[in-house]
Amino acid sequence: MPQLGFGVWQVPDDEATTAVATALEAGYRSIDTAAIYGNEEGTGRALARSGVPREELFVTTKLWNADQGYDATLRAFDESLRKLGLDYLDLYLIHWPMVSRGTYIDSYRAFEKLLQDGRVRAVGVSNFLPEHLRSLIDETSVIPAVNQIELHPHLQQIASRELHGEEGIATEAWSPLGQGKGLLEVPAIVAIAQKHGRTPAQVVLRWHLQLGNVVIPKSVTPARIEENIDVFGFELDEEDLAAIRALNEERRLGPDPATFDAV
Ligand code: NAD
Repeated sequence: MPQLGFGVWQVPDDEATTAVATALEAGYRSIDTAAIYGNEEGTGRALARSGVPREELFVTTKLWNADQGYDATLRAFDESLRKLGLDYLDLYLIHWPMVSRGTYIDSYRAFEKLLQDGRVRAVGVSNFLPEHLRSLIDETSVIPAVNQIELHPHLQQIASRELHGEEGIATEAWSPLGQGKGLLEVPAIVAIAQKHGRTPAQVVLRWHLQLGNVVIPKSVTPARIEENIDVFGFELDEEDLAAIRALNEERRLGPDPATFDAV
């Protein structure tokens, strides 16, 4: 999968069409949406109109909590694919482990069926803590390709990244820019940006890439969409990486996956 993609959380359906079209023009080929974002149709419209060949696109969507369970998962997948206007998906993720319901194993078995049937090219999870990943790996036969988790310099997810490395699971960072709140004004990040003649957002994205994370920054502003993919022409040095490592507070912006059970 491309190491850098485009996320569309909180982008209304009609705006998603414009934003995804701008991203595709800027060179993004990987798009991250979810059933709960309510913009699979708008995203699909942009994909269809772009003229980019299907095999060059990498499309991810996610199974919502309310649709967990074997049969419900298969139905939700059909609905997402229909809304996206696609005949196969590149990556399907279980959005949250939803521990209180106890159905992520059943849901994942449906994912394995979709994989076997060639309807999805890869399957994975999102917001899985190490204990959820271990039980999934013990009880099912396909190692998840990806765990998409909240990850940014204030929440570096050391334990999860270590487990992913051992199991060959790609770490995908959601809210890679810390939702643009505060993180991009942190003096250490601003100083590194000045040193390289780059923006703070580019420094944070470059940090993710050098760590080996997959990133899916979101923006609806064309200049920022372009800025966020222009991160392959410079490199952070050891001193920069150490300064960012020191910002870790293991502090979440989003919900705790151990308890989150919204439907
Ligand atoms: P993000 O860290 O990508 O931050 C996005 C915000 O940062 C923008 O709304 C904007 O305000 C600001 N920003 C973006 N580019 C900027 C730039 N160049 N300069 C200055 N500010 C900039 O946050 P996100 O949207 O929460 O996360 C990215 C994607 O991750 C989402 O769109 C979604 O696809 C995915 N996600 C997944 C989950 C999950 O549970 N799996 C949860 C949240 C997000």
